[in-house]
Amino acid sequence: PPPTKKKVIIVGAGPIGLFTALKLARTNIPVLILEKSPQLSTAPRAVGYHGAALAALKRTPVYHKARELGFFGKGICWRRSLVADQDENHNRNGDGEMGKKMGDIIASLAGYGHGVLYLPQGMLTRLIYEEVVRTGLVEVRFGWEVSDVIQHGDDDDDGVTAVARKVSGHGEEERFTGKFLVGADGGKSAVRKILQIPLQGHSWPERIVAMDVLLEDKHLDPMFPTSMVVHPVNFGLVTPLEPVREGEKTLYRCSVATDPGDERTDEELVEEASLRVLLEGFAPGPRPLDVDIVGSSAYRTHQLCAFTLRKGRCVLAGDAAHLNNPFGALGLTTGLLDADALANTLDMIINEKKAIDLLDVYADERKRVFQTFVDPVSTQNKLRCASDPDTVTEDWLIRGVINHTPDVMEAFGRPFFDVWPTDMRKLAALRGY
Ligand SMILES: Cc1cc2nc3c(=O)[nH]c(=O)nc-3n(C[C@H](O)[C@H](O)[C@H](O)COP(=O)(O)OP(=O)(O)OC[C@H]3O[C@@H](n4cnc5c(N)ncnc54)[C@H](O)[C@@H]3O)c2cc1C
Repeated sequence: PPPTKKKVIIVGAGPIGLFTALKLARTNIPVLILEKSPQLSTAPRAVGYHGAALAALKRTPVYHKARELGFFGKGICWRRSLVADQDENHNRNGDGEMGKKMGDIIASLAGYGHGVLYLPQGMLTRLIYEEVVRTGLVEVRFGWEVSDVIQHGDDDDDGVTAVARKVSGHGEEERFTGKFLVGADGGKSAVRKILQIPLQGHSWPERIVAMDVLLEDKHLDPMFPTSMVVHPVNFGLVTPLEPVREGEKTLYRCSVATDPGDERTDEELVEEASLRVLLEGFAPGPRPLDVDIVGSSAYRTHQLCAFTLRKGRCVLAGDAAHLNNPFGALGLTTGLLDADALANTLDMIINEKKAIDLLDVYADERKRVFQTFVDPVSTQNKLRCASDPDTVTEDWLIRGVINHTPDVMEAFGRPFFDVWPTDMRKLAALRGY
């Protein structure tokens, strides 16, 4: 079938596919999204958005609603695990002062950038979807799984066809043709596999157990509701999922690393008794712990990037293009910046008739940003937490935070605004497009 003149096909209605669609529709480019699930995902995943990614959200109507539904945190801190809370005879000191608060603060970083916006990923995805629908230029087909991609060539009149199968019913197949195709279909990307693009990098040996827990921290400093817990084995993160209510239980996400040698299955790791042992190092308050565990999952983390983000008329964005560990909230956020750069690129190619090879500039820049910024920063964020709490103060960032060294703070914070995003219009001009 002849390609629709301008249409872009996006595979995946996750946050990145939807954000790309929203940005494209706002430049008058029609979009078809094919999503294999019957509805939007509500899985408990990302919660924090900051730096240039927050600025990218701000440039769309999604931001105001996200602000209303979410809340801002002004800082983060690094704490000791409560496992260290033992007296000389190695008895737990749970009813004492130590047991009441969420581990001693090693260092705390206030007022970073414009703060961190907290909103569960499912709610952010829903907000982007509502704005996408409002444009009237995006069709979202739920329950369609893309199984093949056929490229027709690089001439202006050519296009690309996605072969999709209806997931329910008799699995009938249909072909959808557009000018370009975006693989925003997540870490296990079918598009990436169909295009035979390998992932390079490594997977971390330990599993992370994520728990959504209602707990109260009576000694919480409201400025620092997000904590990185420093421990050589059971390191992790504690982040509120709703504004912290003093004097009441608040819903937190506690993500705790397990011993790489732990041979239990994922199902065994998330049994209530196992979760409660992990929470001993993280949840404050007298023992036995007064917490309600409302959800949990065990997962592995990776530092992986696709060898290239472009093949012909197909491009990758978000988790389909790269994966990193959750320390520092650089996953979904990096994808939002891909989406922003990619939509600008397609706007210039489709609406302003710039050469199709501008897609190489997008692909190379986003991979360079991953390799030189996202990958090392997220890796070091993780390794810093997986340290000995007694010597972590020798780390440059922790030392800089403790000593309030402004140039160190600037060196840490500035790249989240300067290095992380890609200004495609500036690059296109620079490269003579
Ligand atoms: C536990 C956890 C915590 C995290 N915390 C954070 C955080 O705090 N901050 C942060 O920035 N990031 C975080 N992340 C990462 C974040 O969740 C991902 O980066 C984000 O979901 C990527 O969005 P995406 O749209 O690229 O992919 P996805 O959200 O995976 O969406 C891909 C979509 O494509 C669909 N799809 C797949 N294959 C096909 C096909 N063949 N045909 C049609 N549709 C298909 C899927 O059904 C899915 O809807 C976390 C991740 C996890 C697992």
